[in-house]
Amino acid sequence: MKIQKKDIRSLTKEQLQDFFISIGDKPFRGKQVYEWLWKKGVHSFNEMTNLSKETRKKLEEAFVINHIAVDSIQKSNDGTIKNAVKLFDDLVVESVLIPTKTRTTACISSQVGCSLDCKFCATARLKRMRNLNPDEIYDQVVAIDKESRLYHNRPLSNIVFMGMGEPLMNYNNVLKSVEKITGTEGLAMSPRRITISTSGIPKMIKKMADDGVKFNLAVSLHSAIQEVREQIMPFATKFPLPELLEALQYWYRFTKRRITFEYIIWKDINDNQEAIEALVSYCKKVPCKVNIIEYNPIDDGYFEKAENVSTEKYVSVLEKNRIPVTVRRSRGKDIDAACGQLANKTNS
Ligand code: SAH
Repeated sequence: MKIQKKDIRSLTKEQLQDFFISIGDKPFRGKQVYEWLWKKGVHSFNEMTNLSKETRKKLEEAFVINHIAVDSIQKSNDGTIKNAVKLFDDLVVESVLIPTKTRTTACISSQVGCSLDCKFCATARLKRMRNLNPDEIYDQVVAIDKESRLYHNRPLSNIVFMGMGEPLMNYNNVLKSVEKITGTEGLAMSPRRITISTSGIPKMIKKMADDGVKFNLAVSLHSAIQEVREQIMPFATKFPLPELLEALQYWYRFTKRRITFEYIIWKDINDNQEAIEALVSYCKKVPCKVNIIEYNPIDDGYFEKAENVSTEKYVSVLEKNRIPVTVRRSRGKDIDAACGQLANKTNS
């Protein structure tokens, strides 16, 4: 049987130093290798030119360097770019670059497929294959940053965990990737420019607050009426709205950062007065803002985007109640890169 070599990128700097000590070499080699892997992003041991041939061979015998490969790039008319990213085991995830006048945002994936079952989301149709490793999440950001510089002449300014997967169901790896993204040995980006979007898992939201994370939190609410939410997001039976609210209040108490509620308005589902009032009452219980997202059809037929007048109604009632609200136009629709449309055929 072939022995599976360990992925060297799963080691911390300290573990790399220990490896060199264990083979009778100097610990500072660990730091050198760490820099090659993270700062310089090499994909082979031969490129580590300040190591002797013999050392490189020892590394080769003990480890592999797993890395992603951008398999294909699709460009939308509006400047949005979608990457299909191949992982070391040939599974594929997608990440998206969204440019606006003032920002370039990377929308990245945290899982291959998704564990949840939101009825309106294309990714939910893929079963969850596996969690992404921290380096696979980090690599997506590096790839998008390069594209941002190449096609838009500016570095990446923001990151949203709104691609495939539920970030809080891969919490440890997401956290490790954020450490790399924000660390000086990685991209040194401010955590304030990073947003984790979750379908709303109360226990994990409290854990993030306890862990003192510095990034922003967005919650896909879509309905503040429990029965309606359960119909469109069946897992919500396990996480009732009052429990979610309690976790969000806890988050705010510890972080002092307001939550963003993501909200899609559908015809005959939540385009009525009762739904608006429920949302307003929910929002009044925790500092928040509402981001109304345009629905991107996924050829289901059941869900239909509400009329513009419904969106206007929501906006006016929220504003009247002094709840900040923005309406987000969808981007990259022509290349299936918009929210909820990520469902790479390769994995299905
Ligand atoms: N699992 C996380 C992150 C991935 S989904 C979460 O639920 O937040 C990112 C956002 O896209 C969520 O707000 C989700 O509700 C939204 N979304 C899913 N399907 C969509 C669709 N067809 N059209 C528009 N937004 C969609």
